[in-house]
Amino acid sequence: MTHPADILVISAHPDDAEFGAAGTVARWTQEGKVVVYVMCTSGEKGTTDPEIKPEDLSATRENEQRAAAKVLGVRESVFLRHPDQGLEDTPAFRKEIVSLIRQYRPHTVVTSDPYRRYIWHRDHRIIGQVTLDAVFPYARDHLAYPDLLDKGLKPHKVRDLYFWGAENANFRSDITDTFGQKVAALRCHESQVREMNKPDIEVWLREFCQKLAEGEDFDLGEAFYRVEIPD
Ligand SMILES: [Zn+2]
Repeated sequence: MTHPADILVISAHPDDAEFGAAGTVARWTQEGKVVVYVMCTSGEKGTTDPEIKPEDLSATRENEQRAAAKVLGVRESVFLRHPDQGLEDTPAFRKEIVSLIRQYRPHTVVTSDPYRRYIWHRDHRIIGQVTLDAVFPYARDHLAYPDLLDKGLKPHKVRDLYFWGAENANFRSDITDTFGQKVAALRCHESQVREMNKPDIEVWLREFCQKLAEGEDFDLGEAFYRVEIPD
């Protein structure tokens, strides 16, 4: 029996959610909301080191993701273990995401923006699109998957969607108080922080989050395209 969650965060790779939403996730868990992470791949291609074997890297990255989730108070990390750089918008994958939405029955779903145009990982575009379609209309409509009804997975209406990485963000979240947790969670992804080649990840991240808060009455932010789902 799956226990419901208030918020389902669905990402292509371990670390995506930390870059995109960790400060907001930490706020939500502090407010007592239950957050569950779903990672569609385990990021086994995320290295420039020819000595690292993909199967070793996937195990490393899952552990890094579990540690980051713990820092943020995320209840559970689910790994779907699809191939890194191999996500496709297929009926089977959409149905898998619908099944998860119907199991966890979240109020809010958070994922990567499918419409960012340039220098955006194909997996990020695909998971954004598949999640958007899964939320509306497939998770909602009882006739979408009659066999899921037989399994007890009843239709579910998600109330809102947050997309990180959006070029046209319409919602900025104040993460001034949870920025430290975002930094700590990102540092858990050691294999990826190493690849970034930044002299100081905290300095870099602070500048990044300051930019996302420009024009707001707070210092540090995360930016999303937020959509409310009509009844
Ligand atoms: Zn990614």
